[in-house]
Amino acid sequence: METPLQVHIIPVLKDNYVYAICDDQTSECAIVDPGKAQPVIDFLSKHDLKLKEIWITHHHSDHIGGLAQLKESYNCHVLGPSKQKDKIPQIDQEVTDLDLLSFNGHPFKVFELPGHTLDHVGYWLFKDKLLFCGDTLFSLGCGYLFERDYKQMWNSLCKIRALPEDTLIYCGHEYTQENAKFALSIDPENENLIKYSQEIDQKRERGTPTLPTLLKTEMYTNPFLRADLPFWEKKLKMIDASDVEIFKTLREKKNKFKA
Ligand code: ZN
Ligand code: FE
Repeated sequence: METPLQVHIIPVLKDNYVYAICDDQTSECAIVDPGKAQPVIDFLSKHDLKLKEIWITHHHSDHIGGLAQLKESYNCHVLGPSKQKDKIPQIDQEVTDLDLLSFNGHPFKVFELPGHTLDHVGYWLFKDKLLFCGDTLFSLGCGYLFERDYKQMWNSLCKIRALPEDTLIYCGHEYTQENAKFALSIDPENENLIKYSQEIDQKRERGTPTLPTLLKTEMYTNPFLRADLPFWEKKLKMIDASDVEIFKTLREKKNKFKA
């Protein structure tokens, strides 16, 4: 049996998180979405780790900004989405939906999660119960829909929701506290949400990341994972509206929301 993987958080840019998935037995690691190179280089040298792979979720510069430099310095293997691949020339291996791969004996599956961008993918280490989902799902929120295809994003969120509820979710940004304000504004009586947002405030006060988040927590608190609950129809005065229409309304409210 392999040793469990350790996931370290490397904060970069304003509110991005780069994740280092480390195998302590071999001192090898995979890096997810390196928005900047130097903080990753510093992390690797501090912990004496070998960069073996880089996993990319989508082509935005805050997720690939450090990719070229890292690939050149470490000659590591780069996985990334096959759609819009011209935007990420460093990709060695294009991944598509349900590809089954492994990292140092830890199996993982790729999901296509379009909605934030067309090329978005997630990486699910199903034995370790870890999901790296970039800018698809955030704690208490979801990614901005650059393509405005609400059905597409809703389907991607439903894919995530169907995973085991004890899955730890590693999202691309520290947006949780801001997201909590919006979530509370539309779902103020949700006891789970109230309790969770208090924990978030405490973590941020201490300067601690609020990620990863547990899928189970999101299922009880994140409005965008709950758009198909019947109470929204009444709340939003959208009787007989479809799940996608409710999701769209919630997401558009979030776009306009000012705390
Ligand atoms: Zn993005
Ligand atoms: Fe981003």
